Amino acid sequence: MKCRKCGGKASINMRQHRLALCKEHYIEWVPEQTERFIKKYGMFTQSEKILVAVSGGKDSLALWDILNRLGYHADGLYLGLGIDGGINYSHESQRLTEKFANKNNLILHVVDIEKEYGQPIPVLSEISHRGHGKPCAVCGLTKRHEMNRIARDLGYAVLATGHNLDDEAAVLFGNTLNWASEYLLRQGPVLPESEGLARKVKPLCRFYEREMTAYCLSRGIEYIYEECPFAEGSQSIYYKELLNQLETTRPGAKLTFYLRFLEARKSGNLFIEHEVGRAHLHPCPKCGQPTSTSDLCSFCRMIEKANVPV
Ligand code: SF4
Ligand code: ZN
Repeated sequence: MKCRKCGGKASINMRQHRLALCKEHYIEWVPEQTERFIKKYGMFTQSEKILVAVSGGKDSLALWDILNRLGYHADGLYLGLGIDGGINYSHESQRLTEKFANKNNLILHVVDIEKEYGQPIPVLSEISHRGHGKPCAVCGLTKRHEMNRIARDLGYAVLATGHNLDDEAAVLFGNTLNWASEYLLRQGPVLPESEGLARKVKPLCRFYEREMTAYCLSRGIEYIYEECPFAEGSQSIYYKELLNQLETTRPGAKLTFYLRFLEARKSGNLFIEHEVGRAHLHPCPKCGQPTSTSDLCSFCRMIEKANVPV
């Protein structure tokens, strides 16, 4: 297989794009494509400050690397969740994130959930009895809350996450199976800002997971290989496996699934007649973030419950 640009030996073959590239041209192609998606979906401009949620995994580190190579003002946010799982998950992912930031001279904000709220995620989850044993519900709630808080307090207009096509196609698959119309209407590369909430963007949403692995390897980016120990057996991993089976026999199926969805949504052909956007919200009396309940937001309620003295 030869590189389409230089005729040299290809190091990656992307069947879905009918494109093979050598390492050198691949690491040029990825940011070019990312820039194209940023413009196409109107994600942000060079003058806006971007906060990248970095977990130490390949996607978020690749995103941070790409945005900086493209000349954007992109700082990182690492959330210390306090998850060990026998592999020292949080410790190791923080170490690799800090190493990347230092090596590239980038600004990284670190928030340690235990220091901030008294308990690490697994304990907060146990106390609050959300999520039937797995801490993912509490973890997701906390991550969203903290990303919004830091973006607001430090004046970032945009919050960027490293979701790739495999992530997005799996979420879309789950939402479609359940005809979860509200989620379907909100899913996309950009969720516009609203009062108290920064714009959320996913610049990697059209890249396959393996393309991001190849990018990190080609760029020499060290990332944590292990997934969070609580991800094992999750529904989204199962959906990803199903979609991968489909992709094997029909290269490009995942991308088509996602892109046709975006097209249908844009042209109003989703035959779901809801108003797009965020529900009417008011500020939480404690943290000030928008919430749909008239009392404390669900994050503050969870923290309050977790810190009641026994
Ligand atoms: Fe949090 Fe791990 Fe669950 Fe992801 S898999 S939501 S990081 S606990
Ligand atoms: Zn609150």
